[in-house]
Amino acid sequence: MAPLVGIARLAAESPSLEAKRQTEYFELPTRRYIARCDSPRMPFRWMINPYRGCEFGCKYCYARYTHEFMELRDTEAFERKIFVKHFDPAAFRKELRALPRGEAIAIGTATDPYQPAERKFRLTRSLLEILAQNAGYRIGLITKSDLIARDIDIFREIIRRNYLTLVLTITTLDRELARLIEPLAPRPDLRLNAVRKLSAAGLRVSVNLAPIMPLINDSEPSLESVAKAAASAGAIQLSGHVVFLKPCAQKAFFPFLQEHFPNYLRRYRERFEKNAYLTGNYPDMIEERIDRIRRRYGLGKREDPAAEPELWPQDPQLTLFS
Ligand code: SF4
Repeated sequence: MAPLVGIARLAAESPSLEAKRQTEYFELPTRRYIARCDSPRMPFRWMINPYRGCEFGCKYCYARYTHEFMELRDTEAFERKIFVKHFDPAAFRKELRALPRGEAIAIGTATDPYQPAERKFRLTRSLLEILAQNAGYRIGLITKSDLIARDIDIFREIIRRNYLTLVLTITTLDRELARLIEPLAPRPDLRLNAVRKLSAAGLRVSVNLAPIMPLINDSEPSLESVAKAAASAGAIQLSGHVVFLKPCAQKAFFPFLQEHFPNYLRRYRERFEKNAYLTGNYPDMIEERIDRIRRRYGLGKREDPAAEPELWPQDPQLTLFS
């Protein structure tokens, strides 16, 4: 076997922090906390992922590739071997200082920043505390966990000098379906409670109704029930997109279909083995459906905050885009 290099070697040498039930936590030496995103599909340029791996174990999760970089190719490893980035506050401050103001930073693009590890290691909170001491960024944070409400005090500090959107992903209100597709993520009603608490605290909250999976959660009543609950909990925006399944996600999703929705397996295989993204009428139909539902409940679209300067904090000490 070839010697491991780079992130794979660091992962192999990481000391175990704790082994709990089936989940093990490791400390990962980290050179950079802020990664650049060059994908034109994404509305942000910078990403922060406090952890590698995610215990929530969603069957459709596209982020499983991040463990493959570490030569951990077993599907379960992504959910059971969680890497906690070693935190060096001075290094993170220095990286932030190097980012021009006005830049968009997304937290939680390849891991959930409020997964169970956060209760113990509080790394997301440590990063947010430093972000709160800085000004002029467009920050988005996405999670499926109601633990996010723990940090309301920091979010309120952040919005004094930055533009912040908090995004709760809610794929369905059906508890049983949610448990099957997102086995260890908090129940949908707990996520809605978090939306309610964050909104009541004066924070901008968006609900991400994604992924939308053909035949599983794509009916108009299913989507509408999430939109209605999101609006009544105080969310101001709703987004949604069709599932995409790269090979690393197919490895978990196809066995899941085989077990719980065997009649759909052939159709999913035929479409996604050719292309990770669905094309044709279906994505257009879903987009129209979401637009229609959004209008029905007075919810906005996830906008580009740069186009809405009036939404920026009005702090006279702050010069934006300097
Ligand atoms: S919460 Fe997000 S990162 Fe975690 S398993 Fe689910 S989709 Fe992946």
